[in-house]
Amino acid sequence: MDFNTALLHHNFGSEKNSGSTLTPIYQVSAFSQESAEKLEAVFNNRAPGFAYTRIGNPTTDSFERRISSLEKGIGAVACSSGMAAVTLSLLNILQAGDEVIASTALFGGTIDLFHDLEAFGIKTRFVSEVTAENVRQQLSEKTKAVFTELIGNPKLNVVDLQSVADVAHENGVPFIVDSTTATPYLVRPFEFGADIVVHSSSKYINGNGSAISGIIVDSGKFKWDPARYKGFEEYKRFGKFAYLAKLRNGVWRNIGCCIAPATAFLNSLGLETLGLRMERLCDNALQLAEFLQGFEGIKVNYPALKGNPYYDLVQKQFNGKGGAIISIDAGSKKKAFKLINNLKYATIATNIGDLRTLVIHPESTIFTHATKEQKENAGVFEGTVRISVGIEDIEDLKGDFEQAIKQIS
Ligand SMILES: *Cc1c(COP(=O)(O)O)cnc(C)c1O
Repeated sequence: MDFNTALLHHNFGSEKNSGSTLTPIYQVSAFSQESAEKLEAVFNNRAPGFAYTRIGNPTTDSFERRISSLEKGIGAVACSSGMAAVTLSLLNILQAGDEVIASTALFGGTIDLFHDLEAFGIKTRFVSEVTAENVRQQLSEKTKAVFTELIGNPKLNVVDLQSVADVAHENGVPFIVDSTTATPYLVRPFEFGADIVVHSSSKYINGNGSAISGIIVDSGKFKWDPARYKGFEEYKRFGKFAYLAKLRNGVWRNIGCCIAPATAFLNSLGLETLGLRMERLCDNALQLAEFLQGFEGIKVNYPALKGNPYYDLVQKQFNGKGGAIISIDAGSKKKAFKLINNLKYATIATNIGDLRTLVIHPESTIFTHATKEQKENAGVFEGTVRISVGIEDIEDLKGDFEQAIKQIS
């Protein structure tokens, strides 16, 4: 099955009981069983079935299966937000005294999270870019994970997955990739050596900007040595499912950040058009980026532009697609604000992956808590405007940006 067919048919059929063509929203808290024995078996993972929505729900289960099969993983766990997914992907394996290697060019919330984890004795060694060389320099006995975004938001730097995965694996360390901005349409990170993939499914997977959620997918390939990953002793018996079993029975269930069934439904619905949307979004983004390059005083950053430092990697790893985010520099905060305010078709909002074009000034919003150095490392300057390109007609978008830019130059 190719991508768009798989979105509709892989790992998904009509409901057995009713023939319903979509998995309905099971809007319930609990599931009854016919006997105390059956509930005992379900509770103890000895029989299939559901007990309580925080732990499992058919609508959620259907969404998880669909994402797992798209990513070619062995299973997935959906969460209440992308940040919950990022947090739990790490807490499932880390303990006080452990270290993570991560990029400084991360989503603002993720950088803040790494600082929050210091209070629990978990230290992050930041590198300006996640490359094999930079990771090798920071590795130590304490390193328990390498974490990166695939296309940094909003720096738009692209990571060469296989080379980093190789260094991590040589040292017995898993490679965790936040693939939110790339989506499975551009790449399946497991094919390039990643071990765990996380998404903020609030973005391109949902696709309509209608609900917040996240998801963690496991490749099943990493060997969790209980001597290094202490909590895994108890889960050895699950074999390649050890990470997922530990997550489901541990921090995910006990912290309690499950996805709402209604959100899982909206995500499954949105997911069916992921291929169509991404095709259009990437096309619009490339055309708009090329168009914006023609204006004096506007610096354009888009990974699939010829001359971009990641151009070759985009060809090799993403089949030439550059994603749907463009970052431009208007020269100053004043000009950036004026440009944003002059746009007619772009919505001023802190989100990406909507059908509408969205714009934001990251320096004064998402990165407001960051130091000047942190901002610059993340590709955020006074004049930076992040554009999450939508599916509008490209000539309308070009015309809109043209009139807005003319008013600031
Ligand atoms: C939005 C985003 C997150 C956080 O997701 P939420 O659903 O807002 O919690 C994490 N990583 C990236 C790359 C994002 O764009």
